[in-house]
Amino acid sequence: MIPADFDYVVAGSVDDAIKALADGGEEAKLLAGGHSLLPLMKMRLAAPSLLVDLRKVDGLAGVSRSNGSFSIGPMTTHATLQSSDELGVIARAASTIADQQVRNRGTIGGTLAHGDPASDLPAVLLASEGSITARAASGGERTIAADDLFEDYLTTALAPDEIIVSVDLPAHDGWGHGYEKFTRRAEDWAMVGVCALVQKAQDGSCEDVRVALTHMSATPLRATGVEEALRDGALDEETIGTAAEEAAEGTDPPADLNASEDYKKHLARVLTKRALLAAAK
Ligand SMILES: Cc1cc2nc3c(=O)[nH]c(=O)nc-3n(C[C@H](O)[C@H](O)[C@H](O)COP(=O)(O)OP(=O)(O)OC[C@H]3O[C@@H](n4cnc5c(N)ncnc54)[C@H](O)[C@@H]3O)c2cc1C
Repeated sequence: MIPADFDYVVAGSVDDAIKALADGGEEAKLLAGGHSLLPLMKMRLAAPSLLVDLRKVDGLAGVSRSNGSFSIGPMTTHATLQSSDELGVIARAASTIADQQVRNRGTIGGTLAHGDPASDLPAVLLASEGSITARAASGGERTIAADDLFEDYLTTALAPDEIIVSVDLPAHDGWGHGYEKFTRRAEDWAMVGVCALVQKAQDGSCEDVRVALTHMSATPLRATGVEEALRDGALDEETIGTAAEEAAEGTDPPADLNASEDYKKHLARVLTKRALLAAAK
């Protein structure tokens, strides 16, 4: 379908973009890779009055590291993340997103701002206990922790005039990682996905663990029951399997044409075990 009419400006700087967004009011939207927003506009599920294109703004793409954390520009594409091995589970999860064309365009800022529960990187931000920094028309910046960012289906804590200027994730040096995703067809959205991070103690037991779930609710979720069951325990297959049985506790996966709620809960348990085994290796 053809989108409703809209105005379009190309921002030259973050300040330009913020001003255009503020002047455009609540119906103005930022455009990053366009791979979530444009399909919604074509289906007339979104009809912004103004698009503020971020693609010509310098300094919004790239990865840097300081003080044990990665700082990722919001316009960094999934393809760049995928090819950055030092990013560990971020690279692994990005490599599972759709196909190469989508990964060449889609950005980490766009995916986090969009808040789609089937997106892969929100669960990685949550498991990593990362955060975003957002700047608003007032000139102020604030940091929003992953725990507070995802509020509901396609709804985040970002205000309409805020721009994500940075995504920050602790590097988790020495931790093992896994991201497992189940799709009906190759390169599809996740029916369910699981991100696991495991820190081994010197005796090989589990010193610390983080598990987050994709598409098991209207927002990504931490699987705290699994974490509690595994922390300080052994990292053998049996113990991991027992802990993974907790994966569906407190979840509310949407039944759809692909799978029932029960089947998705089953997938969460199976994929959690696989992601933890990969992370414990
Ligand atoms: C065929 C297809 C398959 C896909 N499969 C997957 C998949 O398997 N897994 C997955 O995770 N994703 C998938 N996606 C989505 C893809 O990853 C998108 O690129 C991503 O969700 C949105 O990123 P974007 O840069 O395209 O954002 P856009 O579509 O440009 O924007 C999305 C939203 O974010 C806002 N926004 C963008 N940048 C900022 C910013 N810096 N600050 C504040 N708000 C901002 C926009 O205003 C808009 O509301 C798929 C997309 C397609 C088309």
